[in-house]
Amino acid sequence: MNDPQNPGLAAMMQNALAERVYNFSPGPATLPAEVLQQAAQEMLSWRGTGMSVMEMSHRGKEFESIHGQALADLRELLQIPKNFRILFMQGGAIGQNAIVPLNLINRVDPKQPKADFVITGTWSVKSEKEARRYGEVNVAATSQDQKYSRIPDAASWNLSDDAAYVHLCTNETIVGVEFQQIPDIGQDQGRIVVADASSHILSRPIDWSRVQVVYGGAQKNIGPAGVTIVIVREDLLGAAHPLCPSAFNWRLVDENNSMYNTPPTYAIYVSGLVFQWLKRQGGVAAIEQRNIAKATALYSFLDQSDFYRNEIDPSCRSRMNVPFFLADESRNEAFLTQARANGLVQLKGHKSVGGMRASIYNAMPLEGVTALIEFMREFERTSA
Ligand code: PMP
Repeated sequence: MNDPQNPGLAAMMQNALAERVYNFSPGPATLPAEVLQQAAQEMLSWRGTGMSVMEMSHRGKEFESIHGQALADLRELLQIPKNFRILFMQGGAIGQNAIVPLNLINRVDPKQPKADFVITGTWSVKSEKEARRYGEVNVAATSQDQKYSRIPDAASWNLSDDAAYVHLCTNETIVGVEFQQIPDIGQDQGRIVVADASSHILSRPIDWSRVQVVYGGAQKNIGPAGVTIVIVREDLLGAAHPLCPSAFNWRLVDENNSMYNTPPTYAIYVSGLVFQWLKRQGGVAAIEQRNIAKATALYSFLDQSDFYRNEIDPSCRSRMNVPFFLADESRNEAFLTQARANGLVQLKGHKSVGGMRASIYNAMPLEGVTALIEFMREFERTSA
């Protein structure tokens, strides 16, 4: 940042960088510092245009190139097949809880709209409740009686033959369970699987033979809040309920290249910077290895300790969201205060679960997880 007009800017940037903490927020979540620096550098004038990306028409050639690059990079990173469309929408994943049934639940029989749900935690509960407004819902399986500590075995799922789709939440951000793979439930016979992948999209590859719709808000593993990514197999466009709002009709959004209405341009731009960053990291396969290393380090530490514990079955522990408890809950506030003093922030667990939660998305470096473990070891030692 050598701006002759403002010699203080470089120093300001250095100071800000030095202030950065390890941020374990579940979302909006930490972003790579180099992405934020690039956005800062391009803030006032994007590549010689004299305009911030925020100030550009979404229909101009500048934004068109940003948008096109983001689409191409996302397709490359996730190896999205040609017959899947990528939509950049608004409304968040909670919006998609209504938008998915509005677009899909009439697919098999508009007179008897029906969908199957597998309930594995807080977010799939929410999705299922919302879908009830649009048709019949069959709960094919639930792990509620096990406090969502494991994912029900797919062999036990009570799937319907006449459902338009099966909905899964492939990473439950609050309880911390993750599908290590989407099971084979007859997708090759035409069963449609819809996955809410908000909190682990781009952290691992996606097997596109097992899932036909993937959606997620950007604010965890992708970029700033405000853009919702929907990846949908193209033959599933066009079954929308007649009352589906036009701006939420996947087919219309697709036909207009996500510009049926003004898209969240700045969020798409920053997401695009994150895609470029991910490519520089070696892509999804490389980041997956790092995510495995981070999660293994943290769970191994929790498992060898009597002071901390994680309650999720090891077969489905989330690599992204790691809830844990202190054996002595009266130490919770002290833990959080001392963690904060050590530059480790936003570790408080969700109110419905309690305890702590470390969200360790793509942008959290291994050093952040190591620092957390070191802090936890020291806190345990000094609490004895
Ligand atoms: N699904 C999952 C798995 C989530 O983690 C979240 C947000 N924490 C949501 C849905 C809701 O997302 P939004 O607030 O963007 O609508």
